[in-house]
Amino acid sequence: AKAAGRNAIRLFDPGLLEQMRARSQLEAELRQALSLGDLRLHYQPVVNVAGGVIGAEALVRWQHHERGLVAPGEFIPLAEQTGLILPLGRWVLQRACEQLAAWAGQPGLDELVLSVNVSARQFRQAEFTDQVRAALRASGARAHLLRLELTESLLLTDTEEMIAKMVELRAEGVGFSLDDFGTGYSSLSYLKRLPLDQLKIDRAFVRDVLTDPNDAAIVRTILALARSLDLRVVAEGVEIDEQLHFLRQHGCPAFQGYLFGRPVPVHEFERACRPAA
Ligand code: C2E
Ligand code: CA
Ligand code: CA
Ligand code: CA
Repeated sequence: AKAAGRNAIRLFDPGLLEQMRARSQLEAELRQALSLGDLRLHYQPVVNVAGGVIGAEALVRWQHHERGLVAPGEFIPLAEQTGLILPLGRWVLQRACEQLAAWAGQPGLDELVLSVNVSARQFRQAEFTDQVRAALRASGARAHLLRLELTESLLLTDTEEMIAKMVELRAEGVGFSLDDFGTGYSSLSYLKRLPLDQLKIDRAFVRDVLTDPNDAAIVRTILALARSLDLRVVAEGVEIDEQLHFLRQHGCPAFQGYLFGRPVPVHEFERACRPAA
C-alpha cells in the first residue's frame, strides 16, 4: 500500500505537491503560534448614528516572526480543516472575555459590546456552552457585553440543536449576531425561529449600494426585516460618506467599516474610545 501511495504521489503535478508542503508547513507553524502565544486580537469599532462607539468586533491576527501580521483569511480556513480552530477559537473567546473584564469601569470602554466570531466547528462542539461559561467566569466579564457572531450556513443543519445551544447561552445573557447576512438562504420564517439579537449586513451589499439597484434593494429589505423582527442591525464595510448617508436614510442604526476605523491593536482602540482629557 505504501509503494502504491508513492506511485500515486508521482502522478500529482509538482505544483500540487508544493502546495501540500506549504500547507503542512503552515499548519505546523500555526500550531506553534498557538502554543507560543503569537496570536493577537485586533478591535474594530462599531458606531451609532451619532458616530459614538458602541462596541467592537474582535478579529484575530497572527504575528508571524518572518511574515509579520498575517490576516485571518490566510489561516482560518486551514485552521477549520485541521481542527486547530478549536484551540484557536477557545483562545479568542478567553482573550475577548479578559478584554471585556479589563474595560469594566473605564470611561468610554465600560459599556462596549464585544463581538466574537465563532466558527461552525467550534460552535458544534458538545462543550461549547461550557467553554463560554468558563471564559466568562474565569475573566469576570459581564455576559451581556459578549456577542457571538455565527453564520447562516452553521445554522442550516441540526437547527434545533443549534437553537438549543443559543437559548442556553442567552439565558446567561450572551447575545447572538448573524454574520454576513444576505449571502445565505434565510427565509423569513426560518429567521423568526432563531434566537438572535442582531443581523450584520454583509459588506458585499454595502460596497455596491450606490451603484447596484439590486444591492440597494437588498439592504433596504434587510433593514425593514430587522425592524419587523425587532432585531438590531449593523452594516459592515462602510467605507465612504455616501454609503453611510444611504444607510442612515433607510434607518440603519449602527455601522462598522474603514470610514470609522480599521481593526487595530487594543491600545490604539482604547485611545480612540477614551473621552478626551
Ligand atoms: P468578518 O467576520 O466578516 O469580519 C469583517 C472583515 O471585514 C474583517 O476582515 C475586517 O477587517 C474587514 N473590514 C471591516 N471593515 C471593512 C471595510 O470598510 N472595508 C473592507 N474592505 N473590509 C472591512 P479580517 O479581519 O481580515 O477577517 C476576515 C474574516 O476572518 C472575518 O470576516 C471572519 O470570518 C474571520 N475571522 C476573523 N477573526 C476570527 C476569529 O477570531 N475566529 C473565527 N472563527 N473567524 C475569524
Ligand atoms: Ca464577523
Ligand atoms: Ca461579516
Ligand atoms: Ca453586486
